[in-house]
Amino acid sequence: MTAPDRKKLAINQATTMTQWTLREAIEGYATKDIRGISVWRDKLAECGVDEAARILKDNNMTVTGLCRGGMFPANDDAGRQAALDDNHRAVDEAAAIGAQCLVMVCGGLPDGSKDMIDTRKQVADGLAAMLPYAIDAGVAVAIEPLHPMTAADRACVNTLEHALDLCDALGDGIGVAVDCYHVWWDPKLEEQIARAGNRILGFHVCDWLVPTVDLVWDRGMMGDGVIDIPRIRGWVENAGYRGFNEVEIFSERNWWKRDPTEVVDTCIDRYQHFV
Ligand code: ZN
Repeated sequence: MTAPDRKKLAINQATTMTQWTLREAIEGYATKDIRGISVWRDKLAECGVDEAARILKDNNMTVTGLCRGGMFPANDDAGRQAALDDNHRAVDEAAAIGAQCLVMVCGGLPDGSKDMIDTRKQVADGLAAMLPYAIDAGVAVAIEPLHPMTAADRACVNTLEHALDLCDALGDGIGVAVDCYHVWWDPKLEEQIARAGNRILGFHVCDWLVPTVDLVWDRGMMGDGVIDIPRIRGWVENAGYRGFNEVEIFSERNWWKRDPTEVVDTCIDRYQHFV
């Protein structure tokens, strides 16, 4: 693989989540000539949506995604309605800041449940219920399949194949976010990326550390782990994806403890060599 296009480097705000507010992240990335950012809703709320939209525009920043919608399954109708309402709010926020997609972490088992089949049905129903609202708002919905270790409590959509089956059933307006951390292990990855084609709405990169010490908060910097990211990027580009390559690192034991400018500099350096 040739080196990735430097202009397509984006950083997910979570990478400097503990160090920087949204404004600081936008300005901190822009200073290093990074023009793509994924935004988190809690940080967006803290900043204020209108103010955030202004800062993003002032810094010529593309919003590669808003994190996150989803979390559909619940034990009762009231819970499901609350989830749907929250997803509608997420769509409104994504539209207000011009996000290229709303990233969906679909949700896991409701409290006390062992019914994975019903949980997955609730996800399909939830997506179907919110999709018309997103289409009306002009917001693309991106299902992000998460690693199966998260099936109980975060997302019961665990493979790209499952995500694309949902997309097939739901039709236009919905696609997938391919996050290397979640899908790198999948023996069907190459064929499913090809199947995804123009439905790939985001491409997220980081590395899988060995050993991993936390199921969510122990992602590695590109180059520090075992994922062959350039190979996966090649598959994604062969499928037709031309969007940003977004660095997304949750790292309690390392990167969240560092100076954020150092984190960004390291992302830039590693991007050129390991993405
Ligand atoms: Zn991701």
